[in-house]
Amino acid sequence: MNPLHPGLLQEVAVLGAHCDDIAIGCGATLQLICRARPGLTVRALVLTGGSSVRADEEHAALSALCGPASVHLTVLDLPDGRVPEHFAEAKDAVAGLRDDSDVDLVLAPHAGDAHQDHRLLGEITPTIFRDHPVLGYEVLKWESDLPRTTLYQPLSAADIDDKLQVLRTCYPSQAGHDWFDDEAFRGLARLRGVQCRAPYAEGFVTDKLTLDLSSPSRGRDQEGESR
Ligand SMILES: [Zn+2]
Repeated sequence: MNPLHPGLLQEVAVLGAHCDDIAIGCGATLQLICRARPGLTVRALVLTGGSSVRADEEHAALSALCGPASVHLTVLDLPDGRVPEHFAEAKDAVAGLRDDSDVDLVLAPHAGDAHQDHRLLGEITPTIFRDHPVLGYEVLKWESDLPRTTLYQPLSAADIDDKLQVLRTCYPSQAGHDWFDDEAFRGLARLRGVQCRAPYAEGFVTDKLTLDLSSPSRGRDQEGESR
């Protein structure tokens, strides 16, 4: 499929309810964004897991995924599974991320996620980032809640291998879950790849995006030269 190319990306916000959501939902996409743009700034917010081994795992994973980019990660310690009871704190944290940044793109859980923590964050994010393209990622898990994805980032076999290595090596605390394995993550990525005619892909959902089709087309090489 012929892609629509974004304009310049200089700063990206990534949000997760739990440590590992970002890597599972959009880790390969984040990796591609950062590899293509060494000067990129990544503003990351995770609502739970602060002051625990899970926060350490998240720091390690984002460092591995984002490579040369400048990563600013905040991990709060809201209670896992009970984030909706802390709506105001969660919303204030997302608003703080917006106020402290000048992002071009936002990646967050999609609002139809069955997990209450993911869903709340997916609902809050577009209400705070009102002037930004917000892409909702999917988190593979026990619930049968996979969305009908409408946007895809195609991935090569090497791209998905790199993502799986990060998941495998950076999150030892999650290795005991029966769904947390290479085969599950690779299987979903292959399915999303089938849907966009690529070897693998990560899929996204968005409520709305605006287009600018009046500007001259810019190839990837041109974009790189201008930075
Ligand atoms: Zn999660």
